[in-house]
Amino acid sequence: MNQAIRSNACWSTGSDIATHHMSRRINVRRHRIGQSRVKCISTISKSLLFQILIATITVVFYSCAPRRAVIQTPEKGLFRSEDYIVYRLQKNETPPELAERFLGGREKAWMIEEANGGGHFSKGNAVVIPLKEKNKGGLSAEGFQTVPILTYHRFAEDCDSPLCAPTRVFELQMRYLKENGYHVVTPGELLAFLEYRHGLPKKSVLITMDDGYRSAYDIAYPILKKYGFTATLFIYTSFVGVSRMAITWDQLREMKANGFAIGSHTILHSDLTTPKEGETELEFIARVEEEIQGSKKIIDQKLGQDTYILAYPFGYYDQRSINIARQAGYKIAMSVRRGGNPFFANPMSLRRDQILKRDLQTFLSRLKTINHLSLK
Ligand SMILES: [Zn+2]
Repeated sequence: MNQAIRSNACWSTGSDIATHHMSRRINVRRHRIGQSRVKCISTISKSLLFQILIATITVVFYSCAPRRAVIQTPEKGLFRSEDYIVYRLQKNETPPELAERFLGGREKAWMIEEANGGGHFSKGNAVVIPLKEKNKGGLSAEGFQTVPILTYHRFAEDCDSPLCAPTRVFELQMRYLKENGYHVVTPGELLAFLEYRHGLPKKSVLITMDDGYRSAYDIAYPILKKYGFTATLFIYTSFVGVSRMAITWDQLREMKANGFAIGSHTILHSDLTTPKEGETELEFIARVEEEIQGSKKIIDQKLGQDTYILAYPFGYYDQRSINIARQAGYKIAMSVRRGGNPFFANPMSLRRDQILKRDLQTFLSRLKTINHLSLK
């Protein structure tokens, strides 16, 4: 109703709308009276008077509201509506510069890049700057957006295990992401997407590294920094700082200060879904609670944060571990079930792809950012 009045208000007089609105309401009312044979005239009159009052207030309010129009502002080359700015570049401003100036943050540069379809940002060109997020879920006529989450463990100059990525392979993969327009997002940005608060760039990907090996700091960290990327480390707290292979709390603090996220991978990295041999049901539940809640407390205290990301050891989870994790305050929890994550994915059982093979073709197959499903 309000929407109809809002759009009519651009060309109708207030009294036209009030008359139309009132007569429609009266007709509806008459119809209902006929059906129910209600005889209480005074109640109807009061109701009508109330509706007339509301209609009048609504018309007066919307007739005073600003019209949806494109206005040329005093600023040179700038046209603005409620939804968009069209701006003629005065010099070679970049999308991050424009995002900082018009959208309040350089991190929103992708909104400008995507709105202009890869157009050139050079002096004299007109560019579109969207002021509102129109597609938070990444839906299109071709299908829906999915966010791949890549999972690594160890890194080394040279190694054979599938859980170890050689330096040159990791470097090549990160370079591929950079050169092909992928955006490495943070868990906070992913959570906003999953809660339908904010959209993500079309080609978004999250990088995770499990277990807390020191090589995540020594090898992966400099490469990620070189490309302007960040990652999420999942650590099991009993391993931190215990050997030459293990990352330290100081290294984690440094990575965190540089935009990396640190999540829990429990305390002892034990299976949360199966009792150990000789373990009673009560002991089993107590262990699962301690693994999930206890690790959060330790990381919260060591890093001065409210840890909200969890990776289930071995990727194993069940409804009980989900419930305990949620009660402990986690907002995102990850498995290692393969596949990407649309905005309607369950944040407590996200899918991840372990990067176990080294060839680029397999890596590319893990970077699917749209699930094709024709909605035409
Ligand atoms: Zn693990």
